[in-house]
Amino acid sequence: MYSRSHLKYILIILLVPVFLVSLIAADRENTVTNEEIEITSLNLNQVQNRSINYVGTENKIKIKSGDTIYSILIDLGVTAKLINRIASDKNAENFIRLKVNEEIYVTQNKEFLLLEKYDDEFYNLSLTINGDSFDYAKSRDDLKRLKQFKEFVITDSLYASGKKIDVPDSILGDLIYIFGWDIDYVYDIRNGDKVRILYENIYSKGRLIKTGDILAAEFVNRGEELSVIRFTQRGRKDYYSLDSTNIRKAFLRTPIEFARISSHYNPNRKHPILNTIKAHKGTDYAAKRGTPVKVTGDGVIKTMKYSNSYGNYIDVIHYNKYLTRYAHLQSFSKNIKLGAKVQQGDTIGFVGSTGLATGPHLHYEFHIDGKHTDPVKVEPPNAQSINSFNKKYFDKLASERKQLIKKLTAI
Ligand SMILES: [Zn+2]
Repeated sequence: MYSRSHLKYILIILLVPVFLVSLIAADRENTVTNEEIEITSLNLNQVQNRSINYVGTENKIKIKSGDTIYSILIDLGVTAKLINRIASDKNAENFIRLKVNEEIYVTQNKEFLLLEKYDDEFYNLSLTINGDSFDYAKSRDDLKRLKQFKEFVITDSLYASGKKIDVPDSILGDLIYIFGWDIDYVYDIRNGDKVRILYENIYSKGRLIKTGDILAAEFVNRGEELSVIRFTQRGRKDYYSLDSTNIRKAFLRTPIEFARISSHYNPNRKHPILNTIKAHKGTDYAAKRGTPVKVTGDGVIKTMKYSNSYGNYIDVIHYNKYLTRYAHLQSFSKNIKLGAKVQQGDTIGFVGSTGLATGPHLHYEFHIDGKHTDPVKVEPPNAQSINSFNKKYFDKLASERKQLIKKLTAI
């Protein structure tokens, strides 16, 4: 859930200034720990523990749009003839398929050219070129998950303050998402607010190959401390407060990110097309045709069909108590079908103007126990808390992580 990119949130945060005067604060640089091993001093030159033949200078190439294995290898002095042989080797298939932003580690000396990269499961894929011959290998060893701790005081925006001490974008995005359920970044943030994050970095052979998830975090907002602990329950990663309440709400505030409300819930509205008094039993969000519509809570697709008034619409039933309706859709997502389960945030359709609609918008309804409710005013319940089966394990983990943060905290 939280591995998604939250860049949009970051962009919003970038635009949010923090009020009040700037405080002078000593931000804490990173401390790395996995209980005993300090790895702050670890760098690539110290971990060249491969065969002596491979010792050479290691460079890292970041794949840009338009790069191909051909262009990369030509630049490294490999002949076109050999590249063609490599490219037609079935075993090297996964290696030669490049993705934008993927990193390739290149070690080169007089005899060898070694290229290495990592797949999504952290396997090391390597291509060794030695004269006219080449060899391809796949292995997963020396994989380490290490905890990283960072803390900072907010002096301008949350995003800018985090960037000052090199908190990775993915972590800041997740942080903003996690605390976004409780903190309004426009009105609530103050200079002097503190953030502490414990997250996971994944290393292989001393290389940082992936920034993982936030394991625990604290946000001291106007003197009030909010703590969250990551926990996986029924296969789903979520964040919980120390009393084991899920910090995620069971429903998103809106089915479209950053959309403008064009018409509120209003039981006495004059219908724009029928020109009669007809209650508006939902909220309209103006959005461009084709904008993804996200299901606001976990549930099951109960209806997906066309009606003259709603056009293409979807009803989703949640916990046998709630129903959400998404109308005037241009089309349904190909990933959903009648009776299928959906997870909060899944795209279920796209904004359109089918049925009785003056222009492209989403008509969103929220029903509780069969009754229409104003989607904007509804106070959504929290998603599922830690169940009794997991409680003991959660409490132990929460207390360990809390203590670790306490030990590392300096501000
Ligand atoms: Zn409407």
